[in-house]
Amino acid sequence: MSHHTMNADAFDREHLWHPYTSAVNPLPVYKVSHAQGSTIVLDDGTTLIDGMSSWWCAIHGYNHPVLNQAASNQLQKMSHVMFGGFTHDPAIELGKLLLQIAPPSMDRIFYADSGSVAVEVALKMAVQYWAVQGKTHKQNIATIRQGYHGDTWNAMSVCDPVTGMHQIFGSSLPTRLFVSAPESGFYDEWNDADIHELEQLFATNHHEMAAFIIEPIMQGAGGMRFYHPQYLVELKRLCEQYGVLLIFDEIATGFGRTGKMFAWEHANVQPDIMCIGKGLTGGYMTLSAVLATAKVAEVLSSGSPGVFMHGPTFMGNPLACAVARSSTQLLLSQDWQGTVQHIEAQLNEQLAPATSWSWVRDVRVLGTIGVIEMQEPVDMGALQKEFVKRGIWVRPFGRLVYIMPPYVISDDELRTLTTELLAVVEQIGVGQ
Ligand code: PMP
Repeated sequence: MSHHTMNADAFDREHLWHPYTSAVNPLPVYKVSHAQGSTIVLDDGTTLIDGMSSWWCAIHGYNHPVLNQAASNQLQKMSHVMFGGFTHDPAIELGKLLLQIAPPSMDRIFYADSGSVAVEVALKMAVQYWAVQGKTHKQNIATIRQGYHGDTWNAMSVCDPVTGMHQIFGSSLPTRLFVSAPESGFYDEWNDADIHELEQLFATNHHEMAAFIIEPIMQGAGGMRFYHPQYLVELKRLCEQYGVLLIFDEIATGFGRTGKMFAWEHANVQPDIMCIGKGLTGGYMTLSAVLATAKVAEVLSSGSPGVFMHGPTFMGNPLACAVARSSTQLLLSQDWQGTVQHIEAQLNEQLAPATSWSWVRDVRVLGTIGVIEMQEPVDMGALQKEFVKRGIWVRPFGRLVYIMPPYVISDDELRTLTTELLAVVEQIGVGQ
Protein backbone atom coordinates (compact mmCIF):
# COMPACT_ATOMS: atom_id res chain seq x y z
CA MET A 1 0.00 0.00 0.00
CA SER A 2 1.35 3.44 -0.78
CA HIS A 3 2.13 5.54 2.25
CA HIS A 4 -0.30 8.36 1.60
CA THR A 5 -3.34 6.12 1.25
CA MET A 6 -2.57 4.21 4.43
CA ASN A 7 -4.88 4.94 7.33
CA ALA A 8 -3.29 7.02 10.04
CA ASP A 9 -3.05 4.28 12.65
CA ALA A 10 -1.45 1.87 10.22
CA PHE A 11 1.06 4.48 9.08
CA ASP A 12 2.00 5.25 12.65
CA ARG A 13 2.39 1.60 13.52
CA GLU A 14 4.47 0.80 10.47
CA HIS A 15 6.61 3.91 10.13
CA LEU A 16 6.82 5.98 13.28
CA TRP A 17 9.12 5.00 16.06
CA HIS A 18 7.76 5.65 19.56
CA PRO A 19 9.85 5.89 22.73
CA TYR A 20 10.90 2.70 24.47
CA THR A 21 8.84 0.38 22.34
CA SER A 22 9.47 -2.01 19.48
CA ALA A 23 9.60 -0.54 15.97
CA VAL A 24 8.07 -3.70 14.51
CA ASN A 25 5.69 -4.82 17.23
CA PRO A 26 4.95 -1.63 19.15
CA LEU A 27 2.71 -1.19 22.14
CA PRO A 28 -0.54 0.52 21.16
CA VAL A 29 -0.59 4.32 20.94
CA TYR A 30 -3.61 6.56 21.36
CA LYS A 31 -4.18 9.33 18.87
CA VAL A 32 -4.57 12.72 20.52
CA SER A 33 -6.74 15.38 18.94
CA HIS A 34 -6.17 18.20 21.41
CA ALA A 35 -5.51 18.92 25.06
CA GLN A 36 -6.85 21.51 27.44
CA GLY A 37 -6.02 22.24 31.08
CA SER A 38 -5.41 18.86 32.68
CA THR A 39 -7.30 16.86 30.09
CA ILE A 40 -6.16 15.19 26.89
CA VAL A 41 -8.79 14.47 24.24
CA LEU A 42 -8.37 11.53 21.90
CA ASP A 43 -9.45 11.41 18.26
CA ASP A 44 -12.45 9.26 19.15
CA GLY A 45 -13.62 11.84 21.68
CA THR A 46 -12.38 10.01 24.79
CA THR A 47 -11.28 12.51 27.43
CA LEU A 48 -8.39 11.55 29.70
CA ILE A 49 -7.39 13.24 32.95
CA ASP A 50 -3.66 13.73 32.72
CA GLY A 51 -1.53 12.13 35.43
CA MET A 52 1.80 12.54 33.65
CA SER A 53 2.16 16.23 32.72
CA SER A 54 3.61 14.81 29.49
CA TRP A 55 6.65 13.34 31.17
CA TRP A 56 6.56 15.87 33.96
CA CYS A 57 6.83 19.11 32.01
CA ALA A 58 3.31 20.51 31.43
CA ILE A 59 3.14 22.18 34.83
CA HIS A 60 0.40 24.66 33.85
CA GLY A 61 -1.58 22.12 31.85
CA TYR A 62 -2.28 22.29 28.13
CA ASN A 63 -3.35 25.06 25.80
CA HIS A 64 -2.83 27.76 28.41
CA PRO A 65 -3.97 31.18 27.15
CA VAL A 66 -1.03 33.03 28.72
CA LEU A 67 1.58 30.72 27.22
CA ASN A 68 -0.24 30.67 23.88
CA GLN A 69 -0.13 34.46 23.85
CA ALA A 70 3.57 34.54 24.66
CA ALA A 71 4.32 32.12 21.82
CA SER A 72 2.12 33.99 19.41
CA ASN A 73 3.62 37.39 20.31
CA GLN A 74 7.12 36.09 19.82
CA LEU A 75 6.19 34.45 16.50
CA GLN A 76 5.25 37.88 15.14
CA LYS A 77 8.80 39.04 15.84
CA MET A 78 10.98 36.03 15.09
CA SER A 79 10.84 32.38 15.86
CA HIS A 80 14.55 31.91 15.77
CA VAL A 81 17.80 33.67 15.19
CA MET A 82 21.27 32.34 15.83
CA PHE A 83 22.78 33.04 19.27
CA GLY A 84 26.31 33.27 17.91
CA GLY A 85 26.88 37.02 17.56
CA PHE A 86 23.26 37.92 18.38
CA THR A 87 21.25 38.28 21.53
CA HIS A 88 17.58 39.14 22.19
CA ASP A 89 15.09 40.07 24.88
CA PRO A 90 13.57 36.59 25.35
CA ALA A 91 16.98 35.15 26.30
CA ILE A 92 17.87 38.13 28.50
CA GLU A 93 14.54 38.39 30.31
CA LEU A 94 14.37 34.64 30.90
CA GLY A 95 17.92 34.72 32.22
CA LYS A 96 17.07 37.46 34.72
CA LEU A 97 14.13 35.43 36.00
CA LEU A 98 16.13 32.23 36.26
CA LEU A 99 18.83 33.89 38.35
CA GLN A 100 16.12 35.19 40.69
CA ILE A 101 14.90 31.70 41.46
CA ALA A 102 18.14 29.71 41.13
CA PRO A 103 20.50 29.00 44.02
CA PRO A 104 22.44 32.21 44.84
CA SER A 105 25.64 30.44 43.79
CA MET A 106 24.47 30.43 40.16
CA ASP A 107 25.67 33.27 37.97
CA ARG A 108 26.06 32.19 34.31
CA ILE A 109 23.51 30.57 32.06
CA PHE A 110 24.11 28.33 29.07
CA TYR A 111 20.93 27.60 27.10
CA ALA A 112 20.71 24.17 25.52
CA ASP A 113 18.21 22.07 23.62
CA SER A 114 16.96 19.31 25.89
CA GLY A 115 17.57 17.78 29.27
CA SER A 116 20.05 15.26 27.93
CA VAL A 117 22.02 17.94 26.13
CA ALA A 118 22.08 20.03 29.31
CA VAL A 119 23.67 17.07 31.08
CA GLU A 120 26.23 16.70 28.27
CA VAL A 121 27.05 20.41 28.58
CA ALA A 122 27.38 20.22 32.37
CA LEU A 123 29.75 17.25 32.16
CA LYS A 124 31.84 18.95 29.48
CA MET A 125 32.04 22.09 31.62
CA ALA A 126 33.32 20.06 34.55
CA VAL A 127 36.01 18.32 32.52
CA GLN A 128 37.14 21.54 30.84
CA TYR A 129 37.20 23.32 34.22
CA TRP A 130 39.94 21.01 35.46
CA ALA A 131 41.72 20.61 32.12
CA VAL A 132 42.41 24.34 31.75
CA GLN A 133 44.00 24.24 35.20
CA GLY A 134 46.37 21.53 34.00
CA LYS A 135 44.52 18.84 35.94
CA THR A 136 43.91 16.61 32.93
CA HIS A 137 43.70 13.55 35.18
CA LYS A 138 40.36 14.84 36.53
CA GLN A 139 38.16 13.64 33.67
CA ASN A 140 35.83 11.11 35.17
CA ILE A 141 32.37 11.61 36.64
CA ALA A 142 30.92 10.02 39.76
CA THR A 143 27.28 9.50 40.65
CA ILE A 144 24.88 7.36 42.65
CA ARG A 145 23.09 4.29 41.40
CA GLN A 146 19.41 4.42 40.45
CA GLY A 147 19.86 7.80 38.83
CA TYR A 148 18.63 8.92 35.44
CA HIS A 149 20.12 11.76 33.41
CA GLY A 150 19.01 11.26 29.83
CA ASP A 151 19.54 9.27 26.67
CA THR A 152 22.54 10.84 24.96
CA TRP A 153 25.95 9.22 25.20
CA ASN A 154 27.45 10.74 28.32
CA ALA A 155 24.10 11.25 29.99
CA MET A 156 23.56 7.50 29.55
CA SER A 157 26.91 6.77 31.13
CA VAL A 158 25.81 8.30 34.43
CA CYS A 159 22.39 6.62 34.51
CA ASP A 160 22.04 3.57 36.71
CA PRO A 161 23.89 0.82 34.86
CA VAL A 162 20.91 -1.53 35.38
CA THR A 163 17.68 0.43 35.91
CA GLY A 164 18.83 3.35 33.77
CA MET A 165 17.48 1.75 30.59
CA HIS A 166 20.87 1.74 28.85
CA GLN A 167 22.32 -1.56 29.96
CA ILE A 168 22.56 -2.78 26.37
CA PHE A 169 25.27 -0.23 25.57
CA GLY A 170 27.51 -1.78 28.20
CA SER A 171 31.19 -1.31 27.54
CA SER A 172 30.66 1.14 24.68
CA LEU A 173 29.88 3.75 27.32
CA PRO A 174 32.56 5.56 29.32
CA THR A 175 33.04 3.82 32.65
CA ARG A 176 31.84 6.02 35.47
CA LEU A 177 32.27 5.81 39.23
CA PHE A 178 29.12 4.62 40.99
CA VAL A 179 28.17 4.40 44.65
CA SER A 180 24.97 3.04 46.15
CA ALA A 181 22.07 5.44 46.34
CA PRO A 182 21.22 6.65 49.86
CA GLU A 183 18.91 4.35 51.81
CA SER A 184 17.63 7.02 54.20
CA GLY A 185 14.33 8.15 52.76
CA PHE A 186 13.21 11.77 52.65
CA TYR A 187 10.95 11.27 55.67
CA ASP A 188 13.23 8.84 57.57
CA GLU A 189 15.78 9.45 60.29
CA TRP A 190 19.16 10.15 58.74
CA ASN A 191 21.49 7.17 58.92
CA ASP A 192 25.19 8.05 58.76
CA ALA A 193 25.98 4.68 57.20
CA ASP A 194 24.63 6.16 53.98
CA ILE A 195 27.85 8.06 53.37
CA HIS A 196 30.46 5.38 54.11
CA GLU A 197 30.69 4.27 50.51
CA LEU A 198 30.67 7.89 49.37
CA GLU A 199 33.58 8.77 51.66
CA GLN A 200 35.50 5.78 50.35
CA LEU A 201 34.87 6.84 46.79
CA PHE A 202 36.19 10.37 47.35
CA ALA A 203 39.20 9.20 49.34
CA THR A 204 40.19 6.65 46.70
CA ASN A 205 39.21 8.32 43.44
CA HIS A 206 39.15 12.09 43.92
CA HIS A 207 42.20 12.68 41.71
CA GLU A 208 40.30 11.32 38.70
CA MET A 209 36.94 12.95 39.55
CA ALA A 210 35.94 16.09 37.67
CA ALA A 211 32.43 16.16 39.08
CA PHE A 212 29.74 14.36 40.98
CA ILE A 213 26.33 14.52 39.30
CA ILE A 214 23.11 13.83 41.17
CA GLU A 215 19.38 14.49 41.02
CA PRO A 216 18.79 16.33 44.30
CA ILE A 217 16.18 14.77 46.65
CA MET A 218 14.23 12.85 44.01
CA GLN A 219 15.69 10.20 41.75
CA GLY A 220 13.16 10.15 38.92
CA ALA A 221 13.18 7.75 35.98
CA GLY A 222 15.77 5.54 37.72
CA GLY A 223 13.33 4.58 40.47
CA MET A 224 11.18 7.47 41.77
CA ARG A 225 13.08 7.51 45.07
CA PHE A 226 12.95 10.37 47.59
CA TYR A 227 16.10 10.49 49.71
CA HIS A 228 17.25 12.36 52.78
CA PRO A 229 18.44 15.98 52.39
CA GLN A 230 21.39 15.29 54.71
CA TYR A 231 22.94 13.20 51.94
CA LEU A 232 23.40 16.36 49.89
CA VAL A 233 24.97 18.17 52.85
CA GLU A 234 27.53 15.37 53.23
CA LEU A 235 28.12 15.16 49.48
CA LYS A 236 28.80 18.90 49.26
CA ARG A 237 31.24 18.67 52.17
CA LEU A 238 33.17 15.89 50.41
CA CYS A 239 33.17 17.75 47.08
CA GLU A 240 34.72 20.78 48.77
CA GLN A 241 37.18 18.77 50.80
CA TYR A 242 38.48 16.84 47.77
CA GLY A 243 38.11 19.40 44.97
CA VAL A 244 35.28 17.91 42.94
CA LEU A 245 32.55 19.94 41.22
CA LEU A 246 28.97 19.27 42.27
CA ILE A 247 26.38 19.09 39.49
CA PHE A 248 22.67 19.07 40.32
CA ASP A 249 20.36 17.66 37.69
CA GLU A 250 17.13 19.53 38.50
CA ILE A 251 15.54 18.70 35.16
CA ALA A 252 12.76 16.65 36.76
CA THR A 253 12.69 18.31 40.19
CA GLY A 254 12.59 21.94 39.08
CA PHE A 255 9.76 24.47 38.96
CA GLY A 256 7.98 23.47 42.13
CA ARG A 257 7.53 19.76 41.50
CA THR A 258 8.88 18.63 44.90
CA GLY A 259 7.31 21.49 46.87
CA LYS A 260 10.28 23.85 46.55
CA MET A 261 11.08 25.88 43.45
CA PHE A 262 14.17 23.68 43.06
CA ALA A 263 14.96 20.64 45.16
CA TRP A 264 18.33 21.93 46.46
CA GLU A 265 16.28 24.11 48.81
CA HIS A 266 15.25 21.05 50.85
CA ALA A 267 18.90 20.69 51.89
CA ASN A 268 20.09 24.27 51.41
CA VAL A 269 23.04 22.92 49.48
CA GLN A 270 24.16 24.81 46.39
CA PRO A 271 25.84 23.21 43.41
CA ASP A 272 28.63 24.46 41.14
CA ILE A 273 26.63 23.57 38.04
CA MET A 274 22.90 22.95 37.68
CA CYS A 275 20.77 21.57 34.82
CA ILE A 276 17.15 22.57 34.31
CA GLY A 277 14.64 21.64 31.61
CA LYS A 278 11.23 19.97 31.34
CA GLY A 279 8.90 22.43 33.18
CA LEU A 280 11.08 25.36 32.04
CA THR A 281 8.78 26.06 29.05
CA GLY A 282 5.68 24.79 30.84
CA GLY A 283 5.98 21.79 28.57
CA TYR A 284 5.40 23.79 25.37
CA MET A 285 8.63 22.93 23.61
CA THR A 286 12.09 21.72 24.33
CA LEU A 287 14.54 24.01 26.10
CA SER A 288 17.04 23.45 28.84
CA ALA A 289 19.65 25.50 30.62
CA VAL A 290 22.89 24.86 32.43
CA LEU A 291 23.59 27.30 35.23
CA ALA A 292 27.07 27.70 36.64
CA THR A 293 28.88 29.68 39.31
CA ALA A 294 30.94 32.70 38.30
CA LYS A 295 34.00 30.73 39.32
CA VAL A 296 33.28 27.85 36.96
CA ALA A 297 32.68 30.30 34.12
CA GLU A 298 35.81 32.33 34.90
CA VAL A 299 38.07 29.31 35.15
CA LEU A 300 36.63 27.84 31.95
CA SER A 301 37.33 31.07 30.13
CA SER A 302 40.93 31.25 31.32
CA GLY A 303 43.84 29.43 29.71
CA SER A 304 43.47 27.69 26.39
CA PRO A 305 41.18 27.56 24.40
CA GLY A 306 39.63 30.29 26.60
CA VAL A 307 36.11 29.46 25.46
CA PHE A 308 33.64 26.72 26.18
CA MET A 309 33.48 24.40 23.20
CA HIS A 310 29.75 24.00 22.71
CA GLY A 311 27.19 25.91 20.63
CA PRO A 312 24.10 24.18 19.34
CA THR A 313 22.16 25.54 16.34
CA PHE A 314 19.09 26.36 18.39
CA MET A 315 20.92 27.78 21.40
CA GLY A 316 18.75 30.38 23.15
CA ASN A 317 15.86 29.83 20.70
CA PRO A 318 13.75 33.01 21.08
CA LEU A 319 10.40 31.25 20.80
CA ALA A 320 11.29 28.74 23.52
CA CYS A 321 12.83 31.45 25.73
CA ALA A 322 9.73 33.65 25.38
CA VAL A 323 7.43 30.82 26.41
CA ALA A 324 9.79 29.80 29.24
CA ARG A 325 9.81 33.35 30.53
CA SER A 326 6.04 33.49 30.43
CA SER A 327 5.69 30.07 32.10
CA THR A 328 8.07 31.02 34.90
CA GLN A 329 6.34 34.36 35.42
CA LEU A 330 2.99 32.59 35.51
CA LEU A 331 4.29 30.21 38.16
CA LEU A 332 5.72 33.03 40.26
CA SER A 333 2.56 35.13 39.95
CA GLN A 334 0.48 32.58 41.85
CA ASP A 335 0.60 30.78 45.19
CA TRP A 336 2.28 27.77 43.55
CA GLN A 337 3.60 26.50 46.86
CA GLY A 338 0.08 26.45 48.29
CA THR A 339 -1.14 24.63 45.19
CA VAL A 340 1.61 22.02 45.38
CA GLN A 341 0.97 21.49 49.10
CA HIS A 342 -2.73 21.11 48.43
CA ILE A 343 -2.09 18.46 45.76
CA GLU A 344 0.43 16.76 48.05
CA ALA A 345 -2.14 16.51 50.86
CA GLN A 346 -4.72 15.04 48.49
CA LEU A 347 -2.24 12.51 47.11
CA ASN A 348 -1.28 11.46 50.63
CA GLU A 349 -4.88 10.93 51.59
CA GLN A 350 -6.14 9.39 48.37
CA LEU A 351 -3.26 6.97 47.69
CA ALA A 352 -3.12 5.76 51.32
CA PRO A 353 -5.47 2.76 50.85
CA ALA A 354 -2.84 1.09 48.63
CA THR A 355 -0.36 0.90 51.53
CA SER A 356 -2.22 -2.06 53.02
CA TRP A 357 -2.19 -4.19 49.84
CA SER A 358 0.29 -7.05 49.89
CA TRP A 359 1.16 -6.60 46.18
CA VAL A 360 2.19 -3.01 46.85
CA ARG A 361 5.69 -2.52 48.23
CA ASP A 362 5.50 1.17 49.03
CA VAL A 363 3.38 4.27 48.60
CA ARG A 364 5.14 7.63 48.75
CA VAL A 365 4.35 11.24 48.01
CA LEU A 366 6.50 14.34 47.64
CA GLY A 367 5.09 17.59 46.29
CA THR A 368 2.91 16.71 43.32
CA ILE A 369 4.57 13.32 42.84
CA GLY A 370 2.59 10.28 43.95
CA VAL A 371 4.24 6.87 43.65
CA ILE A 372 2.88 3.37 44.10
CA GLU A 373 5.76 0.92 44.00
CA MET A 374 4.56 -2.60 43.26
CA GLN A 375 6.21 -5.84 44.38
CA GLU A 376 6.48 -7.00 40.76
CA PRO A 377 6.92 -5.23 37.42
CA VAL A 378 3.62 -4.30 35.79
CA ASP A 379 2.42 -4.94 32.24
CA MET A 380 2.51 -1.38 30.92
CA GLY A 381 0.50 -2.03 27.74
CA ALA A 382 -2.29 -3.84 29.57
CA LEU A 383 -2.43 -1.29 32.36
CA GLN A 384 -2.47 1.63 29.97
CA LYS A 385 -5.44 0.15 28.14
CA GLU A 386 -7.28 -0.13 31.44
CA PHE A 387 -6.39 3.43 32.45
CA VAL A 388 -7.65 4.80 29.13
CA LYS A 389 -10.88 2.85 29.50
CA ARG A 390 -11.34 4.57 32.85
CA GLY A 391 -10.57 8.02 31.48
CA ILE A 392 -7.14 8.67 32.97
CA TRP A 393 -3.65 8.95 31.50
CA VAL A 394 -0.95 7.15 33.49
CA ARG A 395 2.17 5.53 32.09
CA PRO A 396 3.85 3.18 34.55
CA PHE A 397 7.32 1.68 34.15
CA GLY A 398 8.89 -1.33 35.82
CA ARG A 399 7.41 -1.71 39.30
CA LEU A 400 6.37 1.93 39.42
CA VAL A 401 2.87 3.23 38.94
CA TYR A 402 3.04 6.94 39.58
CA ILE A 403 1.36 10.24 38.85
CA MET A 404 2.71 13.78 38.43
CA PRO A 405 -0.31 15.84 37.43
CA PRO A 406 -0.22 19.39 36.11
CA TYR A 407 -0.58 21.95 38.93
CA VAL A 408 -3.85 23.19 37.39
CA ILE A 409 -5.62 19.90 38.10
CA SER A 410 -8.89 20.49 39.98
CA ASP A 411 -9.84 18.67 43.19
CA ASP A 412 -12.47 16.68 41.30
CA GLU A 413 -10.12 15.74 38.49
CA LEU A 414 -7.46 14.63 40.95
CA ARG A 415 -10.04 12.63 42.91
CA THR A 416 -11.08 10.85 39.71
CA LEU A 417 -7.45 10.28 38.73
CA THR A 418 -6.51 8.67 42.06
CA THR A 419 -9.76 6.71 42.38
CA GLU A 420 -9.41 5.12 38.95
CA LEU A 421 -5.69 4.59 39.49
CA LEU A 422 -6.33 2.71 42.73
CA ALA A 423 -9.10 0.67 41.14
CA VAL A 424 -6.64 -0.58 38.50
CA VAL A 425 -3.90 -1.23 41.04
CA GLU A 426 -6.39 -3.13 43.19
CA GLN A 427 -7.35 -5.31 40.21
CA ILE A 428 -3.72 -6.29 39.73
CA GLY A 429 -3.74 -7.83 43.19
CA VAL A 430 -7.08 -9.50 42.74
CA GLY A 431 -5.81 -10.97 39.48
CA GLN A 432 -2.81 -12.55 41.21
N1 PMP B 1 17.65 14.38 33.68
C1 PMP B 1 16.55 14.00 34.36
C2 PMP B 1 16.58 14.02 35.86
C3 PMP B 1 15.41 13.58 33.67
O1 PMP B 1 14.33 13.18 34.35
C4 PMP B 1 15.41 13.60 32.25
C5 PMP B 1 14.20 13.18 31.43
N2 PMP B 1 13.35 12.27 32.00
C6 PMP B 1 16.58 14.01 31.59
C7 PMP B 1 17.67 14.40 32.33
C8 PMP B 1 16.65 14.05 30.09
O2 PMP B 1 15.89 15.08 29.56
P1 PMP B 1 15.41 15.03 28.04
O3 PMP B 1 14.49 13.86 27.92
O4 PMP B 1 14.75 16.36 27.84
O5 PMP B 1 16.62 14.88 27.20
